[in-house]
Amino acid sequence: MEVDNEQNKTKIKNDLIAKDLNDLLKALIIFLLAGGLCGYIGYIYSKDNNLNVTHGIIFGILFPLGVSLLELINCNNFFCFILYTIVYLAVVDFIPTFVGIIILLLVIGMFIIDFIYIEKQDRTKEIEEHLNYNKGTSTNTFDNNKYFEEESIGKYNSTKVEGSLTDNSEKDYYKQEAEEFECEVCFKKISEEEYELYDGMCEDCFMDVHIDNDGNYHDEELF
Ligand SMILES: [Zn+2]
Repeated sequence: MEVDNEQNKTKIKNDLIAKDLNDLLKALIIFLLAGGLCGYIGYIYSKDNNLNVTHGIIFGILFPLGVSLLELINCNNFFCFILYTIVYLAVVDFIPTFVGIIILLLVIGMFIIDFIYIEKQDRTKEIEEHLNYNKGTSTNTFDNNKYFEEESIGKYNSTKVEGSLTDNSEKDYYKQEAEEFECEVCFKKISEEEYELYDGMCEDCFMDVHIDNDGNYHDEELF
């Protein structure tokens, strides 16, 4: 049991790391693609206009970063994008190249630090949370997706409740009809004991159903 728990913890930790690495790699790929494309545009533009090519490339690469900043501050509509592009192009010529290089190095440094952080981060608390999700579902074998979807546990519980409801629904129906019990065949009022004892029938109806003319008992109702 203790070994199981440790294995679960290691597995959750690995899954969390994999998920974070996946997110970071996605961001890195987007940054490389968008930065590469814009850097190339900056290169072509500055070359054609006899401008500083290094300046063109650096600030081309940095352009998509501003776009992702717009996303961060939730200003990601088309108007904001156009406004940002105009301001960026107007301002960029006046920023020295070395400032662009410093910003670019900082971004690369942030990616590296993020990679290290994902590996070294203390995840004890996160793991505890995921383990707590799993308690109550009474599963010894660990389902990979269960702790990423809180919903699944809710569904699990609700199906359990539904199941127990349908099991008793027939009896509940007759109980609710009137607080007393009735025979399901002749609708005579009967006691709860009689109801439970004779499969929801009165004693007479039960005998009619299960005892044949010779007085022999049959378990099945049709004989
Ligand atoms: Zn009856």
